[in-house]
Amino acid sequence: MTVSDPNCLFCKIVAGQIPSKTVHEDDHVRAFHDINPWAPVHFLVVPKLHIPSMAHVGPEHAALMGHVMTLIPRLAAEQGCRPYPEGGFRIVANTGAEGGQEIHHLHFHVMGGPRPWLRG
Ligand code: 5GP
Ligand code: ZN
Repeated sequence: MTVSDPNCLFCKIVAGQIPSKTVHEDDHVRAFHDINPWAPVHFLVVPKLHIPSMAHVGPEHAALMGHVMTLIPRLAAEQGCRPYPEGGFRIVANTGAEGGQEIHHLHFHVMGGPRPWLRG
């Protein structure tokens, strides 16, 4: 698996070649606001490594996936999602054509905030 794909939109965002509204960045992950939000809070958490989808995740990615999943609750709270159980958030990883995936670089949608939402 390539570390970065020069034709991949999210690799370009990760590299800062395409601007985005950054929520968080560290050595392994960049999180930024979705350009077309469905909910009052809607950001994407994107591993810097070019992994095409969840279908490509294996045991070698366990630490990275653990990092992403432990980061999300903190970022959701920072972005204004109210506390569980009244508040909360939704995590979505569309995978493949039938999973509704459009950008083939692994990413986790994090959505929250007061309802109704535009979708979902
Ligand atoms: P998918 O359908 O692959 O799970 O979701 C891709 C998401 O990326 C969509 O929600 C879409 O709005 C978002 N997106 C597509 N292009 C850009 C972009 O250039 N910048 C940002 N910030 N989000 C994007
Ligand atoms: Zn990529």
